[in-house]
Formats: sequence, C-alpha cells, structure tokens
Amino acid sequence: MAEKPLSVKLSGLRILRRGEFPMRGNLMAYQAEYIWIDGVTPTPTLRSKTKIIENGTKALPIWGFDGSSTSQATGEASDCILNPVFSCKDPIRGGKNILVMCEVLVASTGKPHPTNTRALCAETAKRYADQKMIYGIEQEYTMMRLNGRPFGFPELSGEPAPQGPYYCGVGAGRVMGREIVEIHTEMCLEAGLHISGTNAEVMPGQWEFQIGPVGALAVSDELHVARWLLHRIAEDYDVVISLDAKPQKGDWNGAGCHTNFSTKAMRSNYKAIDDACKALGTRINEHVSNYGHDIESRLTGKHETAPYNKFTYGVSNRGASVRIPWQVAKDQKGYAEDRRPNANMDPYLVTQLILETVCGQSAPKKSTSKKAPKKTGAKKAKKK
Ligand code: ADP
Ligand code: MN
Ligand code: MN
Ligand code: MN
Repeated sequence: MAEKPLSVKLSGLRILRRGEFPMRGNLMAYQAEYIWIDGVTPTPTLRSKTKIIENGTKALPIWGFDGSSTSQATGEASDCILNPVFSCKDPIRGGKNILVMCEVLVASTGKPHPTNTRALCAETAKRYADQKMIYGIEQEYTMMRLNGRPFGFPELSGEPAPQGPYYCGVGAGRVMGREIVEIHTEMCLEAGLHISGTNAEVMPGQWEFQIGPVGALAVSDELHVARWLLHRIAEDYDVVISLDAKPQKGDWNGAGCHTNFSTKAMRSNYKAIDDACKALGTRINEHVSNYGHDIESRLTGKHETAPYNKFTYGVSNRGASVRIPWQVAKDQKGYAEDRRPNANMDPYLVTQLILETVCGQSAPKKSTSKKAPKKTGAKKAKKK
C-alpha cells in the first residue's frame, strides 16, 4: 500500500514559522487565531479567524463573528461575541503569535450562547472545586482521504488486512500517517498543552493522543486547541481528521474519547473509586445521551466496548462501561476510566456530567446548593 510521500508539504509548514513578528508602521504586531465552537448539528465543528494584535496590548480583546454563517444566529441579528478563555503559543506560525480558545456569547445580552456548554461546566467546576477533580482524556481519531475513504485503506477500493497488526505497530503497511502525529505532538508540547502520550490505534490510520490530567476546564479548552492543531496540520497533507464514532462500517473499531477521572478522595482511597463507579451507574441515560452523536453505532458490546444501554464496571475490563485500571486496584487508589464517550464528544459536557454525578453524590447531603441526583428510569447498575 504505497502512500504518497508526506515530507513535501512539511517544509511548507516549517517555512511559515518565522520565529519573529512583523511590523505595522512603527508598531510591532502579532497574529492571534481566535478559535470557537459553532452551532452545527449533530456535532459542532471548530472555526477560527485571525486578529492582528498590537504589541503591548494588555488583555486579549473580545471579538465578534457572523453567527448566521455558523448556525448560531439568524441574518437579522447575526452578531455573536468571542470571549477569550484560554490562550497559548501558536506553534504553526511561531514567534509571538498565539492561539486563543473562545467561548461564544450572545451580543445583545452578553450571556452565554445556547451552544456554549463551557459556561455550565465552569459553574459546576466551581461548585465542586473542593473535591479537586482532574481528568485525562484519550482522544482517538481517524485519518481520512479527501474522497471519504480511510487513509489506512487502499485509495479507491478494497480493504486492508483485518485488524491485528496496526495497534501500536511499526513499519510500512502497518502504520499510516505517523508524520502528522509526530508534528502534532511536537506542536502540542510547544504550545504548552498537557499532552501526555500518543499511540497508533486498532484500525489502520486511526490514532490517539491524550491530554491531562488537569481540571475540567483546562482539559476541555486544551483538547479543543489540540483538535484544532490536528485539523490544521493535516490540512497541509490533504488528510481529513474524522472524529466520527464509527467512521468505517464493518469489523473495524470505532473511535472513542475515554475519559479518566479522579477526585482527591479517589486518589487516596479505593472506596471512593467504587462509589464513583456506582454513582455513574445511576444516571446511564444522562451520560450516554451526552457522550457524542451516533454512540449506539460504537457502543455495541463488540470492539472493546460495552452496550450503550447497559452499565458495568470492573478492574482491567475493556469490555465494561467503566474500567478501573489493574494498577489502581493493586495500589487501592488512583482513578477510573469512563470508556463510553465518543471521539466526537464535547469535553465541557462530559466533564461537567462526571463532576455532577460523581461529586454531587459524594458531597455532604446537608449542603443547599447540591440537588439530589435525578432518577432516570434507567436500568440499575450491574454490580461486578
Ligand atoms: P489506556 O490504557 O486506557 O489506553 P492511556 O495511557 O491512553 O490509557 O490514558 C490514561 C490517561 O489517564 C492519561 O491521559 C493520564 O493522564 C490519565 N490519568 C492518569 N492518572 C490520572 C488520575 N489520577 N486522574 C485522572 N486521569 C489520570
Ligand atoms: Mn489510551
Ligand atoms: Mn485507545
Ligand atoms: Mn483507554
């Protein structure tokens, strides 16, 4: 399976990185790439545009965009506000240039836009701050050709040899697209993101990177920036990054976003881990219905998943909804892995729900601000 050489365009990307910043008249200026999440359904996508910022500008200014072009407003009242929430070095442009993750506000009220899931996440994270929840998210993704076929598949027709040799593989014919992964990892590091590892996945051309462990807002903001960088780098190779839950029908793995989490209590005591798993089993529907579009196609009970409508947890079990790593059971402390979220999940929603379910149930009952967990009519947790 000969892939076209990838190094040609790499040099183009490198040339862009000047390592200095340009002049505007007598003023020094740099570029800020404002990134936001649009209103496309069922899965929102990332958008961005460039603002020139004069050197010496103290706080990053708010900005605006045409919400009628992003499914976030009508033409008559089209203005939406971009409110910067996180910024870091721009490793693509280099120099003083930056990437700016934004949340979207409604221009007329200044309130969070209905598509802004970060606002609720921020509120919930603040409420349970004392429990010191941190997350490590494993972002899986699939490289696709412009014609819609997986990058690890022959260009026009047919399928590669079945799954088996590709996961964490090495060598031509086993691993496709590594150059993109290498550049992406290097750039995440240069941007100062908390990237913690990468690996080739089970389906050819499918990969993973992990961000964390850090708090709900940090892991989510950084995951969005890391996704944006991945799309941007792959753009130069004519490779499309798909976050679809099941990009290829048939006997091929889907793509998930396993979400590892721990409270301070879980990091020192096993009972807190067991309690967290039990709590997740009481709100199956709330979680699964917010874990990404098309989750039913991925969580089938096959391909290292548990069925979406059944909740199980267990030590070392990759066929369970929630896995407690073997080392954690041995140490009697650590974290748990919610294996259900899709690759296309919204990290603000997923981390917010885990906070609410896990911290809400372990919080002291007398506190006024915490509501009792809702009963959903979902099936009871299966004890393992
Ligand atoms: P897997 O064996 O499931 O493929 P990975 O190594 O890909 O595991 O991912 C494990 C994730 O768990 C990493 O992102 C790591 O940062 C995160 N992690 C490690 N310790 C904790 C912890 N105490 N709380 C939350 N996340 C953690
Ligand atoms: Mn992993
Ligand atoms: Mn994986
Ligand atoms: Mn995992």
